[in-house]
Amino acid sequence: MLRTLGRTSQADIARSTGLSREVDAKVPDGRGGRPGVQLVLQDSSRAVVGIDVGHSHVQVAVADLAHDVLAERMCDLEVRDHAFDALDRSARMVEEVLVEAGVVRSHVICAGIGIPGPVDRAHGTVGSATILPGWRGLQIAAEMEKRLGLPVEIENDANCGALAELTWGAGRDCSNFAYIKAATGIGAGLVIDGKLLRGASGTAGEIGHTTLDEAGALCYCGNRGCLETVASGPAILQLVGQGRSESLTLGQVIELAALGDVRCRRAISDAGTEIGVAVAGLCNLINPERVIVGGLLSRAGELLLQPIRDSIRRHAVLAAAERVEVVPAVFVERAELLGSLALALSGWNPALASRA
Ligand SMILES: [Zn+2]
Repeated sequence: MLRTLGRTSQADIARSTGLSREVDAKVPDGRGGRPGVQLVLQDSSRAVVGIDVGHSHVQVAVADLAHDVLAERMCDLEVRDHAFDALDRSARMVEEVLVEAGVVRSHVICAGIGIPGPVDRAHGTVGSATILPGWRGLQIAAEMEKRLGLPVEIENDANCGALAELTWGAGRDCSNFAYIKAATGIGAGLVIDGKLLRGASGTAGEIGHTTLDEAGALCYCGNRGCLETVASGPAILQLVGQGRSESLTLGQVIELAALGDVRCRRAISDAGTEIGVAVAGLCNLINPERVIVGGLLSRAGELLLQPIRDSIRRHAVLAAAERVEVVPAVFVERAELLGSLALALSGWNPALASRA
């Protein structure tokens, strides 16, 4: 429980596990017992590794069991069609962060890796042939285990973001929420009764491929009129790029919007409206307490969030719409990286410790 929660009180451990706190009185050194006392694992020699593979970058971090990040590193890399490059580069970066953090390899107990596509955890592969074609059929977990010599847990990137928000962020006190990652792609990590919903083949939460317009633009997934064709980073850039001589990045569009550029503001708020339509359907299905909006686009703040709220109110069942609050994520660029650490922390099975 401490490995999963990091710092927590004995009272919370008692609540989460159902174990009695009566045992406190028998602790011979008299430590602990009072509900306000924060506990933390003291095994500072052990560590976990997290790897976030994005569409155009790889990030790597090492953390101890007290959830303190000891070192992290990032590099730009086009990963979509270069799976082996991404895995090789990640493995080299793991070596670098371990040296920087002064962590001995044999003391790392598990690695978590987040992938920007649906993940079939049973087979350790990407769960869709069209969403990440360059990774098709690749045994990601096995390939990384070979490179790192560690047990490896793999997960979808939006699910990693949801895990980070659940463990340390805007979902900490919430057991039913949807985390929406709005960036180059749009994905969702769904937490139901405190657990990630993964689905039969790992595509649960692929909200970016919700059909909004059957006669709409052709999507890379093979369908038409998906949410991503109108509200993803590339879709926004295409809209605001028309009539401009220089090409913009999504970060620049968000900055220009904050400075009052009406075209950028309209493009972002329209994206919010469309995302809200898809999220309204999600609210009808899972009735979340909270929708946590993350990803680079969430840097636009209320400009994105308010249209999402308006769309939910307009399109969802009244009771579901009234119940849900739409809030910004605590983590933006680092959510998936931190989530891959949370994945390693929660995924490590003590029974497998001899493998580490
Ligand atoms: Zn699609």
